[in-house]
Amino acid sequence: MIERLVVVGVGLIGGSCALALRRAGQVRHIVGVGRSRDNLREAVKLGVIDEIADSAAAAVRGADLVLLAVPVGAMPAVLREIAPHLPKDCLVTDAGSTKQDVVAAARAALAGGLGRFVPGHPIAGAENSGVAAARADLYQGRQVVLTPLAENAPAAVERIAALWRACGAEVAQMSAEAHDRIFAAVSHLPHLAAFALVDDLAGRSEADTYFRYAGSGFRDFTRIAGSHPEMWRDIALANREALLGELDAYIAELEQIRGLLARGDAAGLEAIFQRASRARKDWN
Ligand code: NAD
Repeated sequence: MIERLVVVGVGLIGGSCALALRRAGQVRHIVGVGRSRDNLREAVKLGVIDEIADSAAAAVRGADLVLLAVPVGAMPAVLREIAPHLPKDCLVTDAGSTKQDVVAAARAALAGGLGRFVPGHPIAGAENSGVAAARADLYQGRQVVLTPLAENAPAAVERIAALWRACGAEVAQMSAEAHDRIFAAVSHLPHLAAFALVDDLAGRSEADTYFRYAGSGFRDFTRIAGSHPEMWRDIALANREALLGELDAYIAELEQIRGLLARGDAAGLEAIFQRASRARKDWN
């Protein structure tokens, strides 16, 4: 049982984790910290948190678990703020979508206390943000990737893994490097592609007409372009190197398709579409 859980950043991800842990009977008292007082008041009203703290530093005193669920660009400052005030046995975990940058920030802030920080990333989410979007079942049947550190005691990693399992998730482990390489390809690049397509169309003089006639293909492809801009700015910059590599690979593929199209190469186009269609169906 967690006696005092502190959630820094009570939005979709932090709020859903609080609701799921409460529903699973894993936590007695939940303290929320955030930037927006209105959002925190709503979190109390919705039963997501029990108490609003004025600062992360004040909140973590007496805590046994701290979940950091702010945009990844905000993690370094939060880690620096809480570091001097963390009780000795308090574990800290995060839900950030990138891992090497968050680990580096934890290394800088926590120094000798790094073993208490178990990095994580729930592979669940939505294009909606804020506590109003939080759901107790967000993690049901979803995966959570932990990227443990050499400094972590196995019991600390297992404790965080058990909490995510209590939220309904399956837990996998990999290195922070592998995490950032994989998610650049399967998450960060698709978001960039969706933002780019919608931005291009929205900037055209006939944008209203295009959007009026856009159908389910456009809806499916661009759903994630409605995601939180600040969060995605931070993710893109945090994983810049891997993302640039994926962007180059995608541009090369598009160039190849462009060449086939320009030459009217039906067989070449169909071969690519065949391979992609088969791979996508196999993945389902
Ligand atoms: P969100 O916008 O719903 O919630 C973030 C909360 O953090 C907001 O309440 C905001 O007010 C607060 N906040 C922002 N900066 C802060 C600061 N400096 N100090 C204190 N509070 C601050 O976003 P979210 O979708 O819950 O994302 C939170 C984290 O989870 C991010 O690191 C994101 O990369 C990660 N994540 C998101 C998804 C997703 O699909 N949304 C999935 C997995 C992981």
